[in-house]
Amino acid sequence: MPERIYLDYAASTPLDPEVEAYMLPYLRAVGNPSSIHAAGRHLRAAIEDARQTVAECIGADPGQIIFTSGGTEADNHALRGAVETWNIQHILYNPTEHHAVLHTIESLVRNRGVEAHPIAIDPQGRIKLDHLEELLRRYPRSMVAVMYANNEIGTLQPINEVAELVQKYEGYFLCDTVQVMGLGWVSVKNWHVDFLAASAHKFYGPKGVGFLYRRRPVKSLITGGSQEREQRAGTENVAGIVGMAYALKKAYETRSAYQAHLRSIKAHLIHRLQESFPEVIFHGDTTEAGSHPGILNFHLPASLISDMILIQLDIEGICASGTSACSSGSAHPSHVLQAIGVSPEEATRSLRFSWGHGIDKSHIDQAVEAIKKYIVSPSL
Ligand code: PLP
Repeated sequence: MPERIYLDYAASTPLDPEVEAYMLPYLRAVGNPSSIHAAGRHLRAAIEDARQTVAECIGADPGQIIFTSGGTEADNHALRGAVETWNIQHILYNPTEHHAVLHTIESLVRNRGVEAHPIAIDPQGRIKLDHLEELLRRYPRSMVAVMYANNEIGTLQPINEVAELVQKYEGYFLCDTVQVMGLGWVSVKNWHVDFLAASAHKFYGPKGVGFLYRRRPVKSLITGGSQEREQRAGTENVAGIVGMAYALKKAYETRSAYQAHLRSIKAHLIHRLQESFPEVIFHGDTTEAGSHPGILNFHLPASLISDMILIQLDIEGICASGTSACSSGSAHPSHVLQAIGVSPEEATRSLRFSWGHGIDKSHIDQAVEAIKKYIVSPSL
């Protein structure tokens, strides 16, 4: 059995062995960070160091960072907290957001009487700024949810322009930065964003830990003890938090080389797909300037491949994805692909490849060869 080739980094990146080694003593450490004895204080200090590191990476104050169980909780905290705290009546949202955002908005509509308004998007999945402005004119002081990069198709959003519009109409801006945090792009220094959501397992940190940046505090989502300055109750995931901070610092320190690596893989993959399957259709923006350098989504016509292609690739040892990992257990075709006009039938044949450290061009070549194996012969 050949070695498996993992091309699903947008779902989760492998844990960096350096991060793992750094976490280990904290996994084993005895004590509760809220205890006042030495064992507790040692863990508390480690958490505060991690907060400082995360804040420095993104240009924030440490007090603006709270640690969460991941991106989903950070998105929930921002949306639910903002609605509760500022009595927000309207949410304007990009329809290709992750379900962590979309399902939370649906819940706020059902249970809190909030009105939600989708922002129009173009065929690449990018929001139309003139429509956002029209909505903001009609509903000033709204909450606006627009992600930085889409997790399925990689399209980047015009986040600076969104921030300016939201400020002009005195709204609140949640930017889900889960897919881009590891690229070292995010800084709140010159960008007026109210909330950022991030998740460690997307930048070679552990699963089950993330953070929320919030310009100003909002009501806590989880009540209980007074951890995280009474913003997020519950004994902290100390090893996860310190591992995440280590991973983020490393990502920021190595960002130029990492981005260049991702870009060269993407260019190679696009080239190999076009050369091998001239009929290939890419989804979303695939340009260097307009897309995530580590994500590519595409489909091939039904005359060439079957809708079993993901399973066929799995048999060949290629781990890819058809939609976001969080939805792949569901029978529904991707809401992102449908929102950009891909038919449900084409969506079932769509593949998302995503890559990172440890993936080189030879892995891409093997993945393309694996697809070729399952091309339906025209003579059949
Ligand atoms: N937001 C985006 C854009 C994501 O891609 C994901 C995970 O895939 C999440 C939120 C959820 O993050 P987590 O898995 O840490 O809950």
